[in-house]
Amino acid sequence: MNIAVIGTGYVGLVTGVCLSHAGNSVTCVDIDKDKITGLQNGRPPIYEEGLGELLQTNLQRKRLHFTTDYQKGITGKDVILLAVGTPQNDDGSADLSALFSACRAIAPHLHEHTIIVTKSTVPIGTNEQIKHYIEQAACGMSVSIIAAPEFLRQGSAVHDTFHGDRIVIGGEDSEAMQTVEELYRPFNIPIIKTDLRSAEMIKYASNAFLAAKISFINEIANLCEHADANVEDVAQGIGMDRRIGNHFLSPGAGYGGSCFPKDLSAIMSYGRKLGCPLSILESVQNVNERQTNILVEKVQKRLGNLTGKTIAILGLAFKPGTDDMRNAPSIPLIKKLMMSGADVNAFDPAATEHAKNILPREVNYANTIDEALANADGAVIITDWQEIKDYPLESFKNHLADPVIFDGRNCFSLDRMSESGIAYYSIGRPTIH
Ligand code: NAD
Repeated sequence: MNIAVIGTGYVGLVTGVCLSHAGNSVTCVDIDKDKITGLQNGRPPIYEEGLGELLQTNLQRKRLHFTTDYQKGITGKDVILLAVGTPQNDDGSADLSALFSACRAIAPHLHEHTIIVTKSTVPIGTNEQIKHYIEQAACGMSVSIIAAPEFLRQGSAVHDTFHGDRIVIGGEDSEAMQTVEELYRPFNIPIIKTDLRSAEMIKYASNAFLAAKISFINEIANLCEHADANVEDVAQGIGMDRRIGNHFLSPGAGYGGSCFPKDLSAIMSYGRKLGCPLSILESVQNVNERQTNILVEKVQKRLGNLTGKTIAILGLAFKPGTDDMRNAPSIPLIKKLMMSGADVNAFDPAATEHAKNILPREVNYANTIDEALANADGAVIITDWQEIKDYPLESFKNHLADPVIFDGRNCFSLDRMSESGIAYYSIGRPTIH
């Protein structure tokens, strides 16, 4: 098929690259000139495993193109995927300005019955508005609209695009739904077809449920600490019940990223507007905000006054496998530690450049874990990168003056830590002093 993808962020770029790899001719359009120039030259602007290779292969096969020119990108295309960002407004609702700006820009170049597929996460009812908006902007021309929300996870985005759990296709036009089904058929992923509004709701309800699972296990982890129980055993024990399932039951320093925080706020804002407040989700948010504080409190309890003390922060990205710093738990944690007087040495294998634009200027960035730990008074693990999990405990001991690790991701087993001679504070498990 002849496809255009609007927006070359995590979703748009990965989707465009994977659809071209499946044999389609794909043109990706973005307003960011630098990004497009880099992509035309085979340089992905984001870190995702496997993305660079697929990008280069399909550029060479000449079925993947990048442009900032809407006319070039859209003219003659049968299917247009919208994948621009839908960030959070100050009142928590979704900011749809980039989306409608993209709709305005594509409208003059569409032909009758072009299929518009919304991959961006949008509040319920938005796809009806998009159809109406585009048809008005295109002087009454008729288009078909499909809601196909995206479920890829950053850090495994390419893998998830080819091997996702399901593809949701929401719409009212059965022919257009059939075309989108064919587009995704080579991926061999189960497809669920719904109406537009249910498809939009599936995306928000999924993220809300996953966030609730994280806050639930974090709250149980905190209770375990008070009760001298071990949350890992508890999670395993409850996860063996198939009604609960064993995924997403790892306690930690809280969720972050570009999706959960903003999508929860958006669905809560939508609920309030309809007079249907979502009280469970309010608690989910509150528990999550408390979670970074818990780690800071542990550091303060152990090290006392932090003025003049140096803390090594291991991991900055909101999760391993990505360079994305949006709403990363490392941000509030580092700010709190610095406000309490600590100096911070930070290490991340991928996110340092993005972090420099977000974190306080005084943060010292290290190129290696060794460098971050050198002469520090303690190490705080925020992102469970494999490189950090594989780092020898002996080296922690050699670098830290009074060896102590505050592990926000439970990277190490208690058995190993109890033999290491390192004081170890983790989440929901007994402390090793
Ligand atoms: P992103 O911020 O990484 O990328 C958005 C891209 O859109 C940027 O490159 C930007 O330059 C471009 N853009 C903005 N306005 C434009 C316009 N008018 N025309 C063309 N390009 C324009 O965003 P993302 O993380 O890829 O998310 C995109 C959407 O997908 C959001 O709605 C998000 O909630 C949803 N989503 C994201 C993920 C994820 O893991 N990141 C997963 C599922 C769903």
